[in-house]
Amino acid sequence: MTDITVFNTPSRAKKVFAPLKEGEVRIYHCGPTVYHFQHIGNMRRFIFADLVHRLFLAHHYNVQQIINITDVGHLVSDQNDGEDKMEKGAKREGKTAQEIAAMYTADFMEDLKLLKISTEDTRFPKATEHIPEQIAMIQSLEEKGFTYQITDGIYFDTSKDEHYPDFAHLDLEGMKEGARVEKNDEKRNPTDFALWKFSPANEQRQQEWQSPWGAGFPGWHIECSAMAKAYLGTTIDIHTGGIDHVPVHHTNEVAQSENANEAPFARYWMHNEHVDFGGSKMAKSGDSFVRLKDLVARGYHPLAYRYYTLLAHYRTKINFSFEALDAATVAWKRLNDTFAKLKDVTASDRKPEQFLTALSDDLDTPRVIAGLWEMLKAHPGDMSDADKKAALMYADSLLGILDPAYQSEHASLNLDELPDDIKALIVERQTARTSKNWVEADRLRDLLAEKGYVIKDSSEGVVITKR
Ligand code: AMP
Ligand code: ZN
Repeated sequence: MTDITVFNTPSRAKKVFAPLKEGEVRIYHCGPTVYHFQHIGNMRRFIFADLVHRLFLAHHYNVQQIINITDVGHLVSDQNDGEDKMEKGAKREGKTAQEIAAMYTADFMEDLKLLKISTEDTRFPKATEHIPEQIAMIQSLEEKGFTYQITDGIYFDTSKDEHYPDFAHLDLEGMKEGARVEKNDEKRNPTDFALWKFSPANEQRQQEWQSPWGAGFPGWHIECSAMAKAYLGTTIDIHTGGIDHVPVHHTNEVAQSENANEAPFARYWMHNEHVDFGGSKMAKSGDSFVRLKDLVARGYHPLAYRYYTLLAHYRTKINFSFEALDAATVAWKRLNDTFAKLKDVTASDRKPEQFLTALSDDLDTPRVIAGLWEMLKAHPGDMSDADKKAALMYADSLLGILDPAYQSEHASLNLDELPDDIKALIVERQTARTSKNWVEADRLRDLLAEKGYVIKDSSEGVVITKR
C-alpha cells in the first residue's frame, strides 16, 4: 500500500508517516470551546480531522482519537488576561456555565452528524472532568522548577525551556520588543503563560476547584497536555488543530508535556487553514458568524458545505462566499444524482487506487475529486456503470460526500413508479414537445411542478424527480 505523507508543521515539510506502534495510530484533535455555537470555519477544522481519521481507516489502522471539549479556562484573550470564555458565555445568557457547556456541546455533536463526521473510535473528554490530571501535571512542572507564582496564578517560565521557540519558529527577541504594553507586568517573560489561575478574592466564580495553590481554575493549555497523556500516553502519533494554535496554544502544550513527561509529545503536527468571510477570519463575534444550521435554513445541504471545503486543500485558506457555495452545490447534487441513477446497479469491487494515493499525499482532496469527475465523465464504453458506482462509493468512504437520504428523496423516478394521473400528464407533455407545441409543454411542466414533480429534459431523456 502507498505511503502516507503529512505536512509536519514544526519541520515545515512533508514527512512519511511511521506509527509509534505497528498498525495503530493515536491522534489528539483540539476540540471546541463550548461557550458559543461553532461556526462553519470551526466545522471545516473538524471535517479536516475526519479526513485524517478516514485516511488511517483506509490504511487499516486501529485509530484511537480524542476530540476534547473545552468547558473551562479558555481566556478571552487567548493569553492570560481577560475573562474566562465559559463564565462570559454564562453571564451573557443568564445560565450556569454547566448549562451552556451542555447546550453547545449537544449542538456541536449535531453538526458533526450532519457533516458525516464519524465519532467512532473517538472519545470526547471534558476539561472539567480531568482537573486532578491537570493539577498533577502542574505539580510535576513545579517540582522540576518550571513554574513561578504571581498575584493571579501559577505561571510557566518559558525562559527555562531552551526549545520553547522551536515549534513555531518564534522570534523571542522581537516578541520582547513588542510586549512593552504587556498587561501583566509581574510576568517574567512575555511568552510565559498561566497554568493555574486563582479565583478573584472579591468574586464568586461558577467554576472553581481546590488545588495545592488555592482555589481557582486551570489555564487553557494544560487541559490538552493532561488529557492527551491520560487517554493516549506520553508520546502520541499525531496532534491536529487550526493554524491559529501554532504560536501559542500548541507551543505551550509542547512545553508543558515535554518538560513534565520528559518524552517527545507528538510525532506529527497537522494544522488546517481558516475559513475567511468578507476578508477576515470567521470568528465567534462580529458579523462574519455563519453556522452550519444557518446554511441549512437557507436551503443548503450540510454535505454540500463539506464538499465545498474539500475542493480546497486543507492548508489553503477558503474565502467563504455564497456564490462559491452555490457552484459547489450544483456539482455536489450532480454527484448524488449520478449515484441515485445507479441505484439498481451492483458496484464492482474495483477501488480506484489513485484516490487513496492522492489522499495519502497530505490529504490532497482536490486531486481525489478531480479524479472522480474524470471517471464519471468517461464514455459508457470506457467505463462500466458497475465501476462508476464502485468509484463513487470508494470516494465517499474517503471523503464522506454522499447522502443516501438525499438520493431517495430526489432520485430520478421511473415512469412505472408514478401515479397514473402524473404518468398521463408526462405522456401528454412529451406529445406536445414532439409536435413542437412549446407553450402547451411548458403549461404541463408547470402543472406537474404544482403537483410536486420536477421534470428536466436531459441528453439521456426526461428526468423526473420529486420536489
Ligand atoms: P474554538 O471553539 O474557538 O476553540 O475553535 C475550535 C477550532 O476551530 C480550533 O481548532 C480553531 O483553530 C478552529 N478555528 C477557529 N476559527 C476558524 C476559522 N475561521 N476557520 C477554520 N478553523 C477555525
Ligand atoms: Zn488543545
